[in-house]
Amino acid sequence: MDMQAILDQVYAELTPRIGEGKVADYIPELAKVSPNQFGMAIATVKGDIFAVGDAGTPFSIQSISKVFMLTLALGKVGEGIWKRVGREPSGSAFNSIVQLEHESGIPRNPFINAGAIAVADVVLAGHQPKEAIGELLRFIHYVADDDSISIDKKVAKSETRTGYRNFALANFMRAFGNLDHPVEEVLGVYFHQCALSMTCRQLARAGLYLANRGVNPLTGHSVVSPKRARRISALMLTCGHYDGSGDFAYHVGLPGKSGVGGGILAIAPGDAAIAVWSPGLNKVGNSALGSAALELIAQKTGWSVFGA
Ligand code: GLU
Repeated sequence: MDMQAILDQVYAELTPRIGEGKVADYIPELAKVSPNQFGMAIATVKGDIFAVGDAGTPFSIQSISKVFMLTLALGKVGEGIWKRVGREPSGSAFNSIVQLEHESGIPRNPFINAGAIAVADVVLAGHQPKEAIGELLRFIHYVADDDSISIDKKVAKSETRTGYRNFALANFMRAFGNLDHPVEEVLGVYFHQCALSMTCRQLARAGLYLANRGVNPLTGHSVVSPKRARRISALMLTCGHYDGSGDFAYHVGLPGKSGVGGGILAIAPGDAAIAVWSPGLNKVGNSALGSAALELIAQKTGWSVFGA
């Protein structure tokens, strides 16, 4: 399979649609990003990397960071995390508050905002917020094997100023006793994780441990056990695209996690990690072009967790 040819074909097919969708504007700093950008990278478990378009341009990974924070939290408290957050798709928007009231402050899953805030609270245990952010950054450097990855402070600040809904979610959970730390500290961690700035190439490399039974094939580092890699991927499949998760599974058939910066990280178990980015979002907040690109990549490669 000529992976570069596949990426080039997908890029050519979708070029007329570049600019499609609506850039997230509820975080003022993200509203400044040009919608006319589109990049893709595939990192294979054999150690090759293929890329096209704007695959070398850093973007705000936003909710994709929730996968890495969940990995860290599982490393700290293991299955104990599931006392704080569920494992069910939400069927609601990424920033929805309604289910929290029905379920006593326990978010439906770790990939909606409320769930990720609870996960950030777990990672914060025993740390100052700065140390927790430092721990995440070290982890990202380790899995991507790239120390140049950084946090875009302007994005973090911009979201801190305007993140009213996230403050509401965090306060609500704190009222139910499902946050151990002050709301400002937990959200400080959460906003900084969302502001991680990465290229498609870096993101694909960082996701490889999930495609390769927990081991990063580029470095030989064991990141998680094979069982844990499978389980994180299962959550990505069922909950990684908010209330568009079913649709993504139907069309793409791979575990994936999207972010409102327009990025998506998808995992083809045993084969590759794929990162796509285009800032225009569809109605449920997932990259419009990125979703289309992954559907085409899955078709052309035959990659699917549901068999060929
Ligand atoms: N930082 C964003 C928020 O909390 C993340 C949302 C996303 O990427 O889906 O609103």
